[in-house]
Amino acid sequence: MRKVLLVFLALLALAANVRAQNWDPDALDLTYSEAFAMINSELAWPCQHAQRGNISSAFGPRVYSTGRDDFHRGLDIYAFQTNTDEDLYAVYDGVVHQKTTWSGGGHILIIKHHFTDPATGLQHTARLHEDSLRTEKWYSLYLHMRDVDRPEAGETVTAGQYIGKMGDTGKAGDVHLHLEIRLGTTCSLQYAIENEPHQTCNLMDYDPHINPMLILPILTEQEHQRPKIDQTCELSPNTDGEFLVRYNDDNPNGNRIKFEQVAQDGTVRVEHVLDFNTREGYDASSTTMLDTWEKEMPWFRPMPRLEHPDYVLGHFVVPSKFVCKKYVGDRFRITFDSAWGTEETRWVFWFGELPDEWDTSDVNEMFCSIA
Ligand SMILES: [Zn+2]
Repeated sequence: MRKVLLVFLALLALAANVRAQNWDPDALDLTYSEAFAMINSELAWPCQHAQRGNISSAFGPRVYSTGRDDFHRGLDIYAFQTNTDEDLYAVYDGVVHQKTTWSGGGHILIIKHHFTDPATGLQHTARLHEDSLRTEKWYSLYLHMRDVDRPEAGETVTAGQYIGKMGDTGKAGDVHLHLEIRLGTTCSLQYAIENEPHQTCNLMDYDPHINPMLILPILTEQEHQRPKIDQTCELSPNTDGEFLVRYNDDNPNGNRIKFEQVAQDGTVRVEHVLDFNTREGYDASSTTMLDTWEKEMPWFRPMPRLEHPDYVLGHFVVPSKFVCKKYVGDRFRITFDSAWGTEETRWVFWFGELPDEWDTSDVNEMFCSIA
């Protein structure tokens, strides 16, 4: 199952290594969270009137009313008042990479940026995860724009500079900005698979979209920064565990959910990670879109798009058969991290204990053997 993805990653690495990497020898190799934290004070909010409270759809897993899985690769910010004359601004200093039109995205502007240390002026590099290659650039994409005032490719823009108007072009539904952040490449995974990796794409990883919350100012109130988990259904021999996952509606920064079965002496017996930015936990074999989870492992079931209260993202599901049932007394830990990945924005949830009356006849040796 992983093989397809690994072969694909190897191809991408090959393609990326072909081109010369000529960054400054003093450039630091940062994680993507560190890189965006470094430039946080230099970033600008992209809308004139619309605020955080106008975020209508978060980055990450969601499901259509038809039941089809979807992964929302950007952040939607709707107009302050419907059809208002809403100005849009560049989120950071950069150069217009492309002014274009896509059937779904409508009129689009793509701006190319670097990670420039505001203290030293040095351009640093970042990685999506530890196995991926370094990249010195990132892109901000503004979709569904009106076809007015967009700057031309090659023009320099500064953070907060006017770049055009919010609109409803393409498949937008209503007037809103769909803001995307792509790390190292303008291309998407599905483009890469359909067209084979090549240099014009500058591919650096298997899906380069990351949560645009990383470019917004970090809120100072710590409790407000934390995504949260509540238990809604007890994990039992015949029932999957269900956990309500939520965050503050103006700060949808949830990113990584880790499930662990922990022995009484504290050692971790089994673990599984879902990560929205790196797409860990997604099924890479059945779909080129990476929109569907591997559901025999712990996975995430989003609320239907239009039915959830703003602060609820969905349910984290732990299949009963995933738990290794032969270790009586084991407990479970779920750790939910924000896109920042910092300890202050982390939520840790402990629950359960494997009771001795559990039927262990269907012990899943595959997971038990991990111990
Ligand atoms: Zn969107």
